[in-house]
Amino acid sequence: MRLFLKLFLSHLLVALLALVLLLLLAEAFAPAFYRGHVERMYHALAMMGGGMMAEALRQDLEKGLRSTLTAALLSALPLSALGALLTALFASLRLYRTARILAEGSRRMAQGEYGIRLPLLERDELGELALHFNRLAEALEKVERTRAELIGTVAHELRTPLAALQGYAEGLMDGVLSKEKAAEGILREVKAMRRLVEDLSLVSRVEAKAVEIRPRPLDPKGLLEEALARFQSAFQAKGVALSLEAQDPLPQVWADEERVLQVLANLLTNALRHTPQGGEVRLRAFRQGEAVAFEVADTGPGIPEEHLPHIFERFYRVDKARSRKEGGSGVGLTVAKGLVEAMGGRIFVESQVGQGSRFTFTLPLYKGLTSQG
Ligand code: ADP
Repeated sequence: MRLFLKLFLSHLLVALLALVLLLLLAEAFAPAFYRGHVERMYHALAMMGGGMMAEALRQDLEKGLRSTLTAALLSALPLSALGALLTALFASLRLYRTARILAEGSRRMAQGEYGIRLPLLERDELGELALHFNRLAEALEKVERTRAELIGTVAHELRTPLAALQGYAEGLMDGVLSKEKAAEGILREVKAMRRLVEDLSLVSRVEAKAVEIRPRPLDPKGLLEEALARFQSAFQAKGVALSLEAQDPLPQVWADEERVLQVLANLLTNALRHTPQGGEVRLRAFRQGEAVAFEVADTGPGIPEEHLPHIFERFYRVDKARSRKEGGSGVGLTVAKGLVEAMGGRIFVESQVGQGSRFTFTLPLYKGLTSQG
């Protein structure tokens, strides 16, 4: 309420000051203007011989003016004072209401109510302030949601291997499991947990833009051949064909070899996971403007359109239950995107349900050591 009083009193003061000034100025200037007029009349009358009458008339007119002026100003005063009062009240209330809404909003947001949004009452700077406040609340809400999701996901991801570990230990103690079987299972679960921890640590570094990139000139075809060699046996084991096609000749790219292979590995792991036996995955490289594009295309089930904008978000899965069972932690594409962007490229996806998915990423061309920096 203090703000309201301050605003109201300051508005009122300005209005009253204007009124008093008006009164004083009218009293000071009006007779002077009027006098000139009367003077001319007085001279005209005096010349016509009515000297005495002219003098009386002059005094009377001057007195008349003063009293008329004072009466007019005084009778206008209550009405203008009321007008000033109402205007001051309205202006103060308007400002006060906006300030209250902003204060209340910030108080609730400080208590963790990030879902709060302020009404956009005005189209001025105060309205702009409310707009920025809403954007801030939106950003905080997203951060908070992601944080909660992250904790939930990590807890969930850990719960499954931990339950399995407990099962193996109990089986071993009860004598239902042989040492070898238990050790095998424990190792598998520990590997899964290790992979999750590594994924998490990599994704946090990628998101903080803290991954170290050591670029050098690389041959695109050589990169694809290396990726193919690493994945050949896994594809053969599942019965999925893996082919390679590179435009010839292709200029060298400027990138970090291990990071590119990591991106290709993530894309190939997904392609293999989602392509059924008898399907096909094609690796391609071709020139695209000032970059080389690398493509991993599969004949899997494809990704429904509504999921496409989200699949690069961390822990986003199209089919949550299935991916989890099959071992994906939902950060493969987040890591791929972060790495590609850290090397100055872009990554995107095209997909048709029932026909397959095509992931493409670009890497900048090598332009000679001096210009590459
Ligand atoms: P995940 O570890 O679950 O594979 P990713 O970040 O690699 O996580 O992928 C996110 C989601 O995108 C996956 O859960 C899957 O639903 C979908 N996805 C990725 N690649 C493909 C693909 N080649 N075919 C169909 N769906 C895919």
